[in-house]
Amino acid sequence: MQKKEIINLAKKIYNKYNTTDPLKIAFNIGCTVIYSNMPAKIKGYTLKIYRSNLIYINENLNEIETRNTILHELGHIFCKHDENRIFTSLKTHQVTSKLENQADLFTVAMLINALEEEELERYNLKQLSYMLGISEELLKLYFF
Ligand SMILES: [Zn+2]
Repeated sequence: MQKKEIINLAKKIYNKYNTTDPLKIAFNIGCTVIYSNMPAKIKGYTLKIYRSNLIYINENLNEIETRNTILHELGHIFCKHDENRIFTSLKTHQVTSKLENQADLFTVAMLINALEEEELERYNLKQLSYMLGISEELLKLYFF
């Protein structure tokens, strides 16, 4: 998927469900979010069983990491990435694959939906990073 398509997709989802809360969005699409104990380096992953998507999240993540990881996994689901693959989110991305970048871009685009146009212009990357709880590196996926 192209960058613009992903940004538009995030906008459409935001307008449809009127929220950036990933749990509400997951609930609306019948996707179950399960918290479980995982090794620290794993943030979460998505499984597709028959026609249901299950998102597994490391229960040891903080609130912001949890939100971002669920959004990221929803990105894989909404971008219809290969359904036979398991997408595992690691703390450190060793390989930045195209699909991982797309899921990250989806995460950023979803969060930016909640901002007013005027806020986007007023704040710099550092401020937006603080406000949205995502790294400047991820924000750059959206802006550049
Ligand atoms: Zn991923």
